[in-house]
Order: sequence, then C-alpha cells, then structure tokens
Amino acid sequence: MRNTIFADANSDYKKSRYVICGVPFDGTSCFRKGSKTAPLAMRAASYNFEAYSSFFDVDLRDIGIHDAGDLKVADNIDETLSMISVHADKYVKDGKLPVMLGGEHSLTFPFANACKKKYPDLGFVVLDAHMDLRQEYQGEQNSHACISRHVIEDVTRKYVSVGIRSGAREEYEYVRENGIKVFSGEDVFSMGIENILQEIRDFIKGPVYLSIDMDAIDPAYAPALGTPEPYGMTPRDVRTVISCLAPDIVGFDLVEIAPEYDSGNTALLGARLVRDFIMASAKAGTV
Ligand code: MN
Ligand code: MN
Repeated sequence: MRNTIFADANSDYKKSRYVICGVPFDGTSCFRKGSKTAPLAMRAASYNFEAYSSFFDVDLRDIGIHDAGDLKVADNIDETLSMISVHADKYVKDGKLPVMLGGEHSLTFPFANACKKKYPDLGFVVLDAHMDLRQEYQGEQNSHACISRHVIEDVTRKYVSVGIRSGAREEYEYVRENGIKVFSGEDVFSMGIENILQEIRDFIKGPVYLSIDMDAIDPAYAPALGTPEPYGMTPRDVRTVISCLAPDIVGFDLVEIAPEYDSGNTALLGARLVRDFIMASAKAGTV
C-alpha cells in the first residue's frame, strides 16, 4: 500500500473532508511531457515528511483525508475532461474538498466548475508563470495553455493570477481590454506577497478555488516542469498564499510537475505544498 496512496491519507471516503485524487494526463503538454507521472511521484515523495508540522501545529493523522487514487483518463483531453468531471462533481456534492494532483493544467477545469455549481460566487486564484489565456493552442481549445481563458469565460470573472511572466502579446491585450487582475512575477518581488494577498482578499470575498501551476515557482526550486520560466516565486511565497487563503479555499489543485526532469526535488516540494494546504485548511476550519 505504501507509496500508492498519499501519506496520511488513509481515512474512509465517508469520514473525510479532503479527497485527494490524481489525474495522470499530459496529452496537450507541448515542451516537456511527463506530468502524467506526477501524482505517483508526489505520493512517493509524501512519505518523506512527518505527519506533524510545527509551522501549522497540525498533525495530518488527526484529519480525515482520503486518497481516491488516480482517476481513469482517456487518450484525448475532451473525453478525459468529461470522465473526470463526474468524479469532481461527486466529491463536491458529497461535501468534500477536492485536492487534485495533475497532470497538466487543463485538468483544473472540471474541478473549478464543480465548485462553481456549489458556490455560485466562487473566486478563482491561480499561481502560474504563464497567462494561459489563449483561445486555442496548437489547434486545441482545451489545451493547458487555455485554462485561464476557460475559467474566466465559463466559470467565474472573480479571477486573479499571480506570478505571471510569460504570455503572447494578444494575451496581455486581453488582460488590458477585459480588466483582468494579474500580478506578475515582478509584482511579487517588488510588492511582497502579503500586499498582493491583501488586494486579492479585498477583491474576492468568499469561497475560492486555488490552482497551483508549479511553474509559478522559480525553476531553481522546481526544475522538473513542463514549461520552466525563470524569475519565479519562492516556495515560501506559495506557502504564504496557501496559508492566507486557506480559510476560504473550497477546491485545490497542483499541476504541471514533470518528475523525470530532476532527481525528485520538484515532486518533493509539490507533496510538501499539498500537505501544507491540507494543514492550513484544516486549521482554519471549513468554509
Ligand atoms: Mn505555467
Ligand atoms: Mn498553467
């Protein structure tokens, strides 16, 4: 059983507030594939850590956490999205807080959408190096490079991205024309993450979906990525985002690690952030 489920995630589904699931799909990844193996790599890495964290003063063994394993996927993205939306809808309907381990970023959609059905005023915060605001990419509308566009147009206008430092000129125009709230990687560096979080909380009052594209983090800390981009956030910045937003978070995912491109550090950091999120959320109490 060891390594096949996330460490300390062995509660029954019924008794659990948190449901971890992996989605091993990277079909639209363009530069470096491999994120489909990230759920298993993060599960294996999760055994490195103590159940107790002094930072949060929380022990994961005191929390109801269920690992539902990897969800079944198809070989194309459209079918995969419709298959996993059944599970995402069920988790949220059953009162669970979904914790999705990707896989590529397009997989966020069914989980954010499931939360939107339950929380009509849902806000969405994404940490990412990339805009992901294209209408289509390489002929694919459901590409990882389009996820934020889908969220804004089909899930919620209460959208904020943080850590951005890459996008096409058209994506920057879309942001300007539509008044989209974007904090760049440079903003994080110059303003400090606490000030950005204050603005985010003033803008989004109420339930939040948090999506972490691992490439928001600087490749010095997280080199095993599908599309690495220098000048990124620090792991501490990300932990601060998680801790600060935790009281309002109703859905969470961590995507885009491509484990084979390093000796395990990125999956380790991913697993740490997932554990930190569950600890922060449990400590804050449920929404
Ligand atoms: Mn990205
Ligand atoms: Mn992304």
